[in-house]
Amino acid sequence: MSINRRDFLKGALAGVTLLAAAAPAEARPNNTMPAEAVGLLYDSTLCIGCKACVSACKDANNMPAEFSMDEHYWDSPLDISGKTLNIIKIYKEGTGENKDQEKDGFAFMKVSCLHCVDPSCVSVCPVSAMTKNPVNGIVGYDKEICIGCRYCVVACPFGVPRFQYDTPFPQISKCQLCRHRLAEGKYAACATVCPTGATLFGKVEDLHGEAKRRVALKAGEMSEFPRGNINTHDQSSHTAKAAAYLPKIYGEKEVGGTQMLKLAAVPFDKLGMPTLAEQSNASISETMQHTMYGGLIAPLAFLGALTYAAKRNVKEDEHEE
Ligand code: SF4
Ligand code: SF4
Ligand code: SF4
Repeated sequence: MSINRRDFLKGALAGVTLLAAAAPAEARPNNTMPAEAVGLLYDSTLCIGCKACVSACKDANNMPAEFSMDEHYWDSPLDISGKTLNIIKIYKEGTGENKDQEKDGFAFMKVSCLHCVDPSCVSVCPVSAMTKNPVNGIVGYDKEICIGCRYCVVACPFGVPRFQYDTPFPQISKCQLCRHRLAEGKYAACATVCPTGATLFGKVEDLHGEAKRRVALKAGEMSEFPRGNINTHDQSSHTAKAAAYLPKIYGEKEVGGTQMLKLAAVPFDKLGMPTLAEQSNASISETMQHTMYGGLIAPLAFLGALTYAAKRNVKEDEHEE
């Protein structure tokens, strides 16, 4: 018995045609954000690069210092890692003299988990070690359940989850929006210490309103910028001149939205933020999986088509003998 290349290709083509016929025309809709979702608003134009948020994050999450210089005097991480959940990166161009200007300027960008509304890391985790809280939308991680497959590391469109390669019992490392502090009536440590309100905590709905207000400000206009937690009455504020904001709230639409929103005056791609579609990666991949493996109908149809081609070829062989 043999299957010649032509019959194999015919069978495969029939199977692919059946798969295509079974595939729905569109991916499932993006998941939506819970009404009580909380998050962060990071405003690059208010950030002064003091890195108080980086230290506070380490302290709040019991993370060790990380050294990038020969002298081990102080914590100096260059990126998020198994030991660092939050970092402030700097953009610099030309002379680097002017804050929040693309040319001959500089600007800051906070790098940490964005708490996607429809997160890929949750979608791909085979054991549900990554979960999205249905009430506040925080994307959390359970080290007791994790099997170390690192699918989440590969799936995250922002490159956030990191694996602790250098520890005897490695885990995935990523910001969990200080959920342990929320349980104690506190809020994100990075927002608590930020002196200018560049990192602001609160309900995403209210953060979004504040982001829209800022984008509508005229460049140079004096304004009050809330600090800490936008939803608490004891908050203080920071008075400053508004920068020339880009008319964009990053995270409003990217991959179906994120619970961390960002504002800037320098284009986001220059600040290291990827340009992404509005359709979530999770919705696309889950639709493909369900199409291909839903009831195993399509794979069985594919196998059937190949079997038919093989059998027909055997009959032809027998006829020729
Ligand atoms: S604490 Fe605030 S101002 Fe300082 S680096 Fe962090 S975000 Fe920027
Ligand atoms: S940014 Fe990455 S790690 Fe964070 S929720 Fe989104 S997919 Fe998950
Ligand atoms: S919310 Fe907490 S864990 Fe996340 S970056 Fe801020 S301080 Fe770090």
